[in-house]
Amino acid sequence: MAPREVAISSKLRFIQLKYLHMAYRTPIVIHRAHPSYPPGCPKCPCPRADFLHITWTCPRLQHFWGRVEQTVSRVLGRDIILTPKTALLEITFEWGGSRGERRFLGMATMIAKRDIAKHWMAKQSPRLSTWRSGMDWVSKLEEPIYNARGCPQKHHRIWGKWWAFYGLE
Ligand SMILES: [Zn+2]
Repeated sequence: MAPREVAISSKLRFIQLKYLHMAYRTPIVIHRAHPSYPPGCPKCPCPRADFLHITWTCPRLQHFWGRVEQTVSRVLGRDIILTPKTALLEITFEWGGSRGERRFLGMATMIAKRDIAKHWMAKQSPRLSTWRSGMDWVSKLEEPIYNARGCPQKHHRIWGKWWAFYGLE
């Protein structure tokens, strides 16, 4: 692999790894070790916030995930359902569609998780505009890699609809 490609894939792997490590830093887990720390969700009134709550079921994150889901469905032109299995655990075959589409959805959920991790203990939830900028960032980082490999069509199969939707081409 080219050095640039290694840098990008390790960056994305790091995001996923960091994300999974968050399981050890939920309010409930911290509360067990330090009882003075409140076990509740920082974003909503939920009194006990476990990993699934703080990554998925919290109403404020449901709103964020719903907007991500709506956006990727519009971009791909079909109904995409994001679930903890597909979005958090990256069991991507359940989305169906082409490999390019599944890679696109994998990137979309990866960037969403990065944004959730950034606002882990914050009151506010991630913003859709930050997620969109993240998507643009990854799509542009990946372009020279596919060009260098001599297969720009692969990049197009992953990002073509996104770029067309947002007029980036
Ligand atoms: Zn919550």
